[in-house]
Amino acid sequence: MNKIVVVEDDRQIRRFVKTVLEAEGYLVFESDNGKSGLHEAASRKPDLLILDLGLPGMDGMELIARVREWSEVPIIVLSARNEESGKIDALDAGADDYLTKPFGTGELLARIRAALRRRSSVATTGSLFKVGGLSIDLAQRRVILDGREIHLTPIEYSLLAMLARNAGKVLTHRHLLKEVWGPSHVEHAHYLRIYMGQLRHKLELVPAKPRYLLTETGVGYRLAAE
Ligand code: CA
Repeated sequence: MNKIVVVEDDRQIRRFVKTVLEAEGYLVFESDNGKSGLHEAASRKPDLLILDLGLPGMDGMELIARVREWSEVPIIVLSARNEESGKIDALDAGADDYLTKPFGTGELLARIRAALRRRSSVATTGSLFKVGGLSIDLAQRRVILDGREIHLTPIEYSLLAMLARNAGKVLTHRHLLKEVWGPSHVEHAHYLRIYMGQLRHKLELVPAKPRYLLTETGVGYRLAAE
């Protein structure tokens, strides 16, 4: 049974969506704000996420960005008619599709079926990464080493999270620079050396002989996988 998390603060719309989806045999989890929506998205491991852009607490745009830090789950955005730019921003941020309110049952179900079909070809990963004594909670942005929480700067965290999402896989210097610093910094390999050094200093017992953050000489870096 496909699980769907619906994040919408308008009770009437939320109820409507839930009723329609349950009648089609989907298992539905509801949330009325961004914060609990993030929690539901991490804990329920849904097959699909439907979310409103205007949400109390954490808005829909931030929720999309946070979920995309660890998950490829399809996201359908519900937007008001006057939110044209919001829709584009949401798609750029990683949403897959959108529905403009008010929408009908047929349209809602058709979009869901299409999103779920696309998903079947995409591998999904969980929000928790562990190797040896290192664990990274990508939903909560927490890094624990041998039972102690480690404080990382935003750039250090982005770099580590990128490696964790691709654990075991070599990521090229160029790819890391583009993803962490942006496309205009792909030639700035020294950034990477500096930040990788800082990360090793914080996460490796012997930074010169890393167990987790491995160098692929001339190519890039790899985070060890269990
Ligand atoms: Ca709203």
